[in-house]
Amino acid sequence: MSENSGRKHAIVIGGGITGLAACYRLQREAAARDIPLDITLLEASGRVGGVIETEHRDGFLIEHGPDAFISTKPAAKALCEELGIADQFIGTNPKVRRSFVIRNGTLHPVPEGFYMMAPGAFMPFLKTPLFSWRGKLRMALDLFIPRRERDTDEAVAHFVRRRLGTEAFTRMAQPMIGGIYTSDAENLSLKATFPRFLEMEKAHGSIIKALRAQKKQAAQTSRDTSGPRYSLFLS
Ligand SMILES: Cc1cc2nc3c(=O)[nH]c(=O)nc-3n(C[C@H](O)[C@H](O)[C@H](O)COP(=O)(O)OP(=O)(O)OC[C@H]3O[C@@H](n4cnc5c(N)ncnc54)[C@H](O)[C@@H]3O)c2cc1C
Repeated sequence: MSENSGRKHAIVIGGGITGLAACYRLQREAAARDIPLDITLLEASGRVGGVIETEHRDGFLIEHGPDAFISTKPAAKALCEELGIADQFIGTNPKVRRSFVIRNGTLHPVPEGFYMMAPGAFMPFLKTPLFSWRGKLRMALDLFIPRRERDTDEAVAHFVRRRLGTEAFTRMAQPMIGGIYTSDAENLSLKATFPRFLEMEKAHGSIIKALRAQKKQAAQTSRDTSGPRYSLFLS
């Protein structure tokens, strides 16, 4: 940030969502504090938006990059509300709100309540043919395995195997995480990609317990609040 005769000048490099949000925040904070501020946004390409790009072609809507954000992380939702575009939110269609994992050439629905690597509901997990009984028992051990005390980072793959076992990793977490990050979970930092699971382990000592607590809390919140209720993913 440079300063010239009381006026400040901020330069933001990159016009993706991060740079655009930074410009907006700078402008808002400067106005709130009565600070005269000029902002220059430097963008290398011919357009802003970065990897966010929507194309309409032959009657189809094509997203080149992201198509949704998670509503449980409040920042993105709050920004949309502040910008007055929350009335344009598109939630997921509950009729087709299912993910599938392919196993032995057959598509299997992800069991109800299952979140990324661990089950949050008992019966659908018991019934799913996606895991062997041995694999299911190993996953249930998450309820008893003590939390890791060291605060060093670990690979996502290591975390899943440590808490829920190899089957949970190869048959569910790996395809789910690969679909999100298009990269190898053996090389992904847990802290950088899924800090929530680390918090779950710290707070509840078990991912399964944390998911059940989360479910209970969501049900309670939905009973207690009268504002808009959003689906997990919003576009
Ligand atoms: C295929 C794909 C799907 C995704 N899906 C989702 C999703 O569904 N939900 C979700 O939450 N996230 C998703 N993400 C992640 C999310 O899109 C990104 O984390 C986010 O858009 C990154 O924004 P950014 O502004 O940090 O970076 P970018 O969007 O990469 O923007 C960086 C900008 O900086 C410019 N730039 C770079 N270097 C310079 C320079 N030296 N000088 C000037 N300008 C420069 C670039 O041209 C670009 O415009 C997805 C990502 C990808 C790739």
